[in-house]
Amino acid sequence: MFLNPFQEAGSWYKANLHTHTTASDGQATQQERVAQYRTHGYSVLAITDHGVGSDAAGLSTGDLLVMDGIEVTVSRPDDERFYHLVCLNVPPDATVPATADPNDVITWAKQEGGETLIAHPYWSGNNVQDLLPLRGHVGIEVHNAGCQGIGKAFSSVHWDNLLDRGVRTPAVAVDDTHSGNPDSRDVFGGWVMLKMSALTASAVLEALRTGCYYSSSGAEVFDFGVKDGKAYVRCSEAKEIHLMAGNWHGRSAHAEGDRGLTEAEVEVGKDWKYVRAEVVDAGGGRAWTNPIYL
Ligand SMILES: [Zn+2]
Repeated sequence: MFLNPFQEAGSWYKANLHTHTTASDGQATQQERVAQYRTHGYSVLAITDHGVGSDAAGLSTGDLLVMDGIEVTVSRPDDERFYHLVCLNVPPDATVPATADPNDVITWAKQEGGETLIAHPYWSGNNVQDLLPLRGHVGIEVHNAGCQGIGKAFSSVHWDNLLDRGVRTPAVAVDDTHSGNPDSRDVFGGWVMLKMSALTASAVLEALRTGCYYSSSGAEVFDFGVKDGKAYVRCSEAKEIHLMAGNWHGRSAHAEGDRGLTEAEVEVGKDWKYVRAEVVDAGGGRAWTNPIYL
């Protein structure tokens, strides 16, 4: 099911999949957002305003694919928590189902030609029991730059809990851009590097479905794989490299002194079901690969 982007043909495309504009509570117009991300070298930008479909695909150019989307809130009848679902590539005029079941929204997005990401589980107060019933989504946000505003940017525990329970889901890093000022933390703070053979919406959706990408908030991954019984990663200079398998399995490497690490490897254990890599650089930037199943 998962493809290893480091072994697939194609090119790398930088994408932000979660973006707000003045159509909801963002502080820049669609046109301003598109200009910001184009100037910053992105290839894919999904406009995902709260509760309102975007009609931004006409803003695409040869170097930047702008995708329509919507962020849907599903409130739970029994408590104050909720799900935020980022639905990509749904038509601007499609009617979101009124429902208390997030699976209805995920199914609806597929019927409309799109796919769904589970936004910021940590920030939403979703625990693993809340996430286990979800079906058909193509990923969860392991990093949401906007959620740095309350110190809850990382949902890596949620992700690992799902993987440990057999839910094979990849994970993305996103901006969840709200600020107008491009120097803010929620602009250019989280992205995915998609491996694709063409810059099209259907290629983006397929890369998301197959986990054919890695995620970043600053660090780079150059290679990741399993060979001759060992999991290995090569990356930009890092202070920590974690090769993480289920539960207590895995191995970390830590830089000593001023010299950063640029690679790590670990022998794969007999009872490991998967392994993923997480890289942390000296400035706090991270990168996450999707798991390889063994
Ligand atoms: Zn959002």
